[in-house]
Amino acid sequence: MADFDFDLFVIGGGSGGVRAARFAGQRGVRVGMAESGRMGGTCVNVGCIPKKLYSYAAEYAEGFADARGYGWNIPGEPALDWDTLKRNRAQSIANLNAIYENLMTGAKVDRMQGHASLVDAHTVQVRHDDGRVTQHSAAAILIATGGTPWVPELPGRELAVTSDDIFDLPRFPRRLAVVGGGYIACEFASIFHGMGSTVTLLYRGEQVLRGFDGEVRNFAAEEMRKAGVDIRVRAGVERIEAVDGARRMHLRDGTTLDADVVLYATGRRANTEGLGLDAAGVRQSEGGTIAVDAHFATSVPGIYALGDVVGRMELTPVALAEAMALVDHLYGPLPGKPARAMDYANIPTAVFTHPPIGTVGLSEEAAREKHGAVRIYRSDFRPLRHSLSGRSERTMVKLIVEDATDRVVGAHMVGAEAGEIIQGFAVALKCGATKAQFDATIGIHPTSAEEFVTLREVART
Ligand code: FAD
Ligand code: NDP
Repeated sequence: MADFDFDLFVIGGGSGGVRAARFAGQRGVRVGMAESGRMGGTCVNVGCIPKKLYSYAAEYAEGFADARGYGWNIPGEPALDWDTLKRNRAQSIANLNAIYENLMTGAKVDRMQGHASLVDAHTVQVRHDDGRVTQHSAAAILIATGGTPWVPELPGRELAVTSDDIFDLPRFPRRLAVVGGGYIACEFASIFHGMGSTVTLLYRGEQVLRGFDGEVRNFAAEEMRKAGVDIRVRAGVERIEAVDGARRMHLRDGTTLDADVVLYATGRRANTEGLGLDAAGVRQSEGGTIAVDAHFATSVPGIYALGDVVGRMELTPVALAEAMALVDHLYGPLPGKPARAMDYANIPTAVFTHPPIGTVGLSEEAAREKHGAVRIYRSDFRPLRHSLSGRSERTMVKLIVEDATDRVVGAHMVGAEAGEIIQGFAVALKCGATKAQFDATIGIHPTSAEEFVTLREVART
């Protein structure tokens, strides 16, 4: 290894890259890292964190409305100051950028600001922001370059914005049109509706959130509609034009829709442009992600890839776990600790809609396919909070149980704090908990989560 400038060179300072660089640095590995944008990557700058902050902003609107039923006299109509929200968010993110930089310094990572590309299996070229171009040899190279929003080809495509732009819109959109039906489309539809926009969501399929449990999708879409988001399914956009400073969308059914801002949330693509994958011979999959084996090795010995750029599950905790598994694999675990391996089973996830969705394990549809005979336990109810708020919002909890073993193979919730609640149940599923063990668990009263330990069977196959 002594012949190389670095033991490990990390391309990309996002969730996966930072975690890998830090953990490798802690083991005394000589690490170099290039980041072309801001430290922390998508999650910190234009993803999870600012998204959740704006979701909190939207929740206040519900809070103000609900408070009246609890006796609060709120004079006048509360109004959102978009510029204050943007400024405070930017400050908070800048603090996080600095924390991430410090983590690299603490782990003795040689951090470079610029765009990196592969020259060959053991050489990286960095085009620094200050104009310098340098080359560095490394025993191992890790590609953790993440992804970027993708917008389909259509006339007027340049008039649309993506999630990268939405946080810093110069003016708050009175009318927002969202195209797509995945995580980002649903989250931003809910968030901007909560903050005061009139929101129309256009989805090409039959129901939003493909891949989630069918009842969860229906229930969540219904609650979003009840809250005031205009969700239109089987909707297609033919072109977008600029009209009087606004956007006019011409839809496939012959109608038009006017909006101040059009957000395209139609998926993301791996960040591989200008990376020199061909020069080094790194193989990509059909969708453009980097193909890797169980230990994140690419087709070229010595080059590894993880996180969104390999596109297994595009979630921050997955990128972090992959990075820790790779570092343990390459350099060994810390003394006294077992080596971590990546396990993609029972990864919990939340969609921060209003109300949010929390889910772990299999959907009912996937469970039937995998296990055949399953039992379904479900309840939907009006949460106690809304007995005085007057809000008609309902909560749904659902368990899917493999009949033969009594193991809970799926836990789903649509309702306040679903992400917080499902995180705990994810531990239970990871431990292989049975429905009998759920039943033997005493509830915490009065909560919505207690429903999970008192559920009755509603169907079986
Ligand atoms: P990234 O975090 O994208 O980092 C890649 C980094 O590489 C970037 O900083 C980029 O600038 C840099 N880079 C790229 N090319 C080069 C190059 N050639 N040279 C140097 N640097 C380069 N996940 C969750 O778990 N929960 C959420 O609530 C959530 N919300 C999200 C909301 C939005 C709007 C989006 C877009 C994503 C969200 N995600 C969420 C997904 C999460 O952000 C990603 O899964 C995660 O950031 C992936 O980490 P990564 O390290 O693979 O890539
Ligand atoms: P998704 O893949 O989740 O959703 C993309 C959506 O766009 C789907 O509804 C898809 O429809 C639709 N679509 C795709 N192509 C077209 C097209 N040509 N025309 C019209 N619609 C189209 O991607 P997102 O961009 O929402 O998010 C990317 C990933 O980021 C997520 O999968 C998730 O892993 C991660 N993320 C996680 C979050 C969280 O943890 N809370 C939040 C935000 C993002 P169809 O279903 O028919 O294919």
